[in-house]
Amino acid sequence: MENRIAAVDALVDNATCVVSASDAVILEIVAKAVHSGMSATFYVSRSQASAINAWYWRPELRKRLCVEDLSPEELSRIEVELDLKDAIQFANRIPCHKCGHVYGAFEFLQQGLSEHGRAAVEAVLGMKNASLIRVNPSEVPVCPNCGEDVIDPTQRRPIDGHYYGSTGPYGGCCRPE
Ligand SMILES: [Zn+2]
Repeated sequence: MENRIAAVDALVDNATCVVSASDAVILEIVAKAVHSGMSATFYVSRSQASAINAWYWRPELRKRLCVEDLSPEELSRIEVELDLKDAIQFANRIPCHKCGHVYGAFEFLQQGLSEHGRAAVEAVLGMKNASLIRVNPSEVPVCPNCGEDVIDPTQRRPIDGHYYGSTGPYGGCCRPE
């Protein structure tokens, strides 16, 4: 108990709090954050992440957002070219509005490595107990081919974002539907 409080004390600062509640309450808090449109990052337990994924990733939503399990080819390309294993299990693929280059899980992880650095990405993927859930992430996908934002912010399209997730340490993202 004392160790737990010391760990909490070390974590809490201006941008971070630690919440203790039942899995159902945590899910409710995350769901409210998703619907509010506000950005937040949740570090939840694997069982909480499973509950959040099950709540958010209904088959109908996966279908609507064209979110599919990564192909063995893409997983192997991520492993060989980016040296990342089991980072993401499912994602959608969206064409760049400027040049048509397709932005998927590979491009997303490539952008993450360049923006946050390998150490940060590997630290997340090395988490043994926690899953990181991004709610309404503010980062925008950038096309590696032409350098422009993949999505034209002035034009709403049927699928207006890059979506991804997994049941591992990188739980993925949720936005209002
Ligand atoms: Zn492009």
